[in-house]
Amino acid sequence: MTMGEVGPAPLALIDSFGRTIRYMRLSVTDRCNFRCHYCRPAHDSVMCEGRDPSKQAAMSLAETVRLVRLFVALGVAHIRLTGGEPLLRRDLLPLAIALQALPGLEDLSLSTNGFLLPSLALPLRQSGVQRINISLDSLDPDAFATITRGGDLKQVLQGIDAAVTAGFQPIKINMVVMGGINDHEIPAMVTFAGQRGLMLRFIEAMPVGNEGRAIMGHFMPATVIMERIQQHFGVRSDLPYQPVTEPIGAGPARYHHIAGLGVDVGIISALSQHFCDSCNRVRLTAQGELVLCLGRSNRVDLLTLLRGGSSDQVLRDHIVAAIRQKPRQHEFDRQSSQFVAHSMPSLGG
Ligand code: SAM
Ligand code: SF4
Repeated sequence: MTMGEVGPAPLALIDSFGRTIRYMRLSVTDRCNFRCHYCRPAHDSVMCEGRDPSKQAAMSLAETVRLVRLFVALGVAHIRLTGGEPLLRRDLLPLAIALQALPGLEDLSLSTNGFLLPSLALPLRQSGVQRINISLDSLDPDAFATITRGGDLKQVLQGIDAAVTAGFQPIKINMVVMGGINDHEIPAMVTFAGQRGLMLRFIEAMPVGNEGRAIMGHFMPATVIMERIQQHFGVRSDLPYQPVTEPIGAGPARYHHIAGLGVDVGIISALSQHFCDSCNRVRLTAQGELVLCLGRSNRVDLLTLLRGGSSDQVLRDHIVAAIRQKPRQHEFDRQSSQFVAHSMPSLGG
């Protein structure tokens, strides 16, 4: 190759800190049927039914598949469908079928609030979704309705049962732990997961968006969550939490196997023990914006390029260049003087 010539695109997405990007969270819609306090506002000021009229229309199925295919060709092997609530997207099943067929994709998973799973769990499994995460912040119907602003716990529990029957493996329950709101339910959640053979992850609240910032007054760090489990189940701190050595999924949780209960418990501690050094992920919004870090506000608009008629090569070059701008670490600050101006439903968590 002579000087000035552009060589072929690399087959891996490597950022300027040497991290290889293998995982994408794909938000397929901003819309949601819940309004969890830490995620969505009680009312949308500029939005109409969850859609912001100032934004361009969400990516079509064909546009989504075209962009994702480029990422997969560049080495992204794990895709998680998320939102908003992904099960609200009408063409979710054909989208899953198209994505799981992409050469190079090793794993297609999904995050959901579970409300629409009773009817959709089996079709999703049959469409190629292998693993599923279900949010569940309380086992008390009234508390659940308060946290989600109207969510029906009974139907979500039916959704979890439907996911078990459909054969997703593994099924992970995600609980955002909030001091004074649901922290007293930590032991009950461990028992619930153990009885059903589910994995369980406790998530530290994050100051993303106004709602995330507002919940930081209830922040509970990973160490305290673990202490609660130890206190309740009467286990010795030096023995029972054997770190699970096998990587489970592609996520950042640190897992511990609780002997006797037969349950693997993970904690996602984005603030208290951040995992930025090993971050392997990017996010793609429903409007086709590439988000390089959950804890930074910048986005790279790929959809305008695509709609403007750019070739795959041009799009690929933009993706490779954007990945080089991935920041070293997030800028979260527990005191909330710093918070990230993203809206969580547009990012997918
Ligand atoms: N609607 C789906 C659900 O609830 O699982 C998928 C989208 S939701 C944005 C993805 C994950 O982000 C959920 O587990 C949710 O609990 C988590 N999440 C949302 N806002 C959060 C915040 N401020 N701090 C920590 N986790 C948050
Ligand atoms: Fe909706 Fe999920 Fe956000 Fe709750 S956490 S409001 S279910 S997107």
